[in-house]
Amino acid sequence: MNKEVCIGCGVEIQTEDKTKLGFAPPSALEKEKIICQRCFKLKNYNEIQDVSLTDDDFLKILNGIGSTDALVVKIVDIFDFNGSWLPGLHRFVGKNNILLVGNKVDLLPKSLKQRKLVNWMKESARELGLKPIDVFLISAEKGHGIKEIAEAIEQYRNGKDVYVVGCTNVGKSTFINRLIKEFSGEEEDVITTSHFPGTTLDLIDIPLDEENSLYDTPGIINHHQIAHYVSGNDLKIITPKKEIKPRVFQLNEKQTLYFGGLARFDFISGGRQSFVCYLSNLLNIHRTKLENADELYHKHAGELLNPPRKNELDEFPPLVAHEFMIKEAKTDVVFSGLGWVTINEPNTKIVAHVPKGVGVIVRKSLI
Ligand code: GDP
Repeated sequence: MNKEVCIGCGVEIQTEDKTKLGFAPPSALEKEKIICQRCFKLKNYNEIQDVSLTDDDFLKILNGIGSTDALVVKIVDIFDFNGSWLPGLHRFVGKNNILLVGNKVDLLPKSLKQRKLVNWMKESARELGLKPIDVFLISAEKGHGIKEIAEAIEQYRNGKDVYVVGCTNVGKSTFINRLIKEFSGEEEDVITTSHFPGTTLDLIDIPLDEENSLYDTPGIINHHQIAHYVSGNDLKIITPKKEIKPRVFQLNEKQTLYFGGLARFDFISGGRQSFVCYLSNLLNIHRTKLENADELYHKHAGELLNPPRKNELDEFPPLVAHEFMIKEAKTDVVFSGLGWVTINEPNTKIVAHVPKGVGVIVRKSLI
């Protein structure tokens, strides 16, 4: 069979994987001129659809950004700050300024002070080697903060091009689609694609003025995000859709909480106290005694303790234990991509179990 290529972007057409480059539904193959789904949506709806790409291509794009004079807008998911971080970015962007944007602010409980979160993001960014010129909180889905970020982009870009970067699932497409409306006032056909030298992928090019554009770069897959270890259905359970309702547990020493079958929190010592869980409202929390915890998992993972489901267990990485001695009162133990548990008392010993490859971090409480 001849290899078919997309008349839009020139990539090879495939019909198997929607998330990969060149996907077209099988019915599209019957047409004389074949266009991939990504180009189809772009052409007909001015709508961006994210595709993932190889690390190699992404590095080429990042390297390219470093050698141009531009403003870089980096998006993270504030619910999965560390998981959605692009680790090497600061080494690639050269002298360019970076605006850091935390998306999905609508998920956080109202009791969380946004100023505190912004400060924490600044501090964490610095620890991770990045010095953003400014930090914004938005909800691309609800439209919160879009006007403000659009104005900030205009101000900070200072007559230059803009590149938007972020890993998959941070909400980059939702954000870009909002920005297009904000910048273009819903005119049609404002978007074109530009070829980035040395890569297989075109960038989405949204004109800002006569000379400059805003470019949407493809989302990179961060393999250590928990999202890559669960099925699409389970992802719907663990990804909060609404404001998180904190759930409080009074625990005695040597008690355990299971978060579905995805993660586990052991309270080892520190005296009876309350723990506040900030997780998707749909994710079941199951309490048990520490001494029974292993057996419970052994017997009931995939059933009582789900997600993952029974048929997904084979593919699911083993849980790995991380022990923490929490010295200070009001500390969050963050399960990357799932949420966090706030520990109220100082000198508390806990063990956090997460799928191998997924991160756990400890931070000063945000609430
Ligand atoms: P991309 O892969 O970075 O392009 O991400 P998408 O724009 O496709 O969004 C990924 C997921 O996050 C989708 O399920 C969106 O509905 C969701 N999402 C995007 N922005 C927001 C937001 O501001 N708040 C919430 N709660 N969800 C969002």
